[in-house]
Amino acid sequence: MAILPIVTYNDPILLERTESVKENSDELQELIDDMFETMYNAAGVGLAAPQIGQKLQLFVMDADPMTEDSDQLDLGPMVMINPEIVSTGGELVGYEEGCLSIPEVRDEVKRPERVELKWLNREFEERQQEFTGWVSRVIQHEYDHLQGKLFLDHLSAFRRRLHRKKLSTIDARSEERRVG
Ligand code: ZN
Repeated sequence: MAILPIVTYNDPILLERTESVKENSDELQELIDDMFETMYNAAGVGLAAPQIGQKLQLFVMDADPMTEDSDQLDLGPMVMINPEIVSTGGELVGYEEGCLSIPEVRDEVKRPERVELKWLNREFEERQQEFTGWVSRVIQHEYDHLQGKLFLDHLSAFRRRLHRKKLSTIDARSEERRVG
């Protein structure tokens, strides 16, 4: 297993749409293992393929429900291949989010409380389930990555402006990385 470099803000791949995963393969299984390794190493709860430079409809997550999330069992590590949101529902709930690709920036994002997702697990078996609370939020955040969307896109222009300075530092960093 390997820890992969995480793509940061302003790398164009984070804004692109992803392609569906066509078939299971040893390479795919290895990529999934590496994504878990990378996510745990960065102390993240979810990681989407574009964040490690892969334009694929794939994300991994290990989102222990928050203690107040008594309605959601601990799901353990999960792999979502070609996920589709079937429906969302419930109230819009605001909660502070961050992103491994946007270090040091956090803000409150409003998302629907419930999400029903259809996906393939790492054995390529079809799954469909409804999630609530914290797990639902992580799923919606990672799903956004597959659409080329970041949590910043949910913020008002005013809130985004407040983060401008920090965001420009991230740009500078990725510039350096490209040069060096
Ligand atoms: Zn993210």
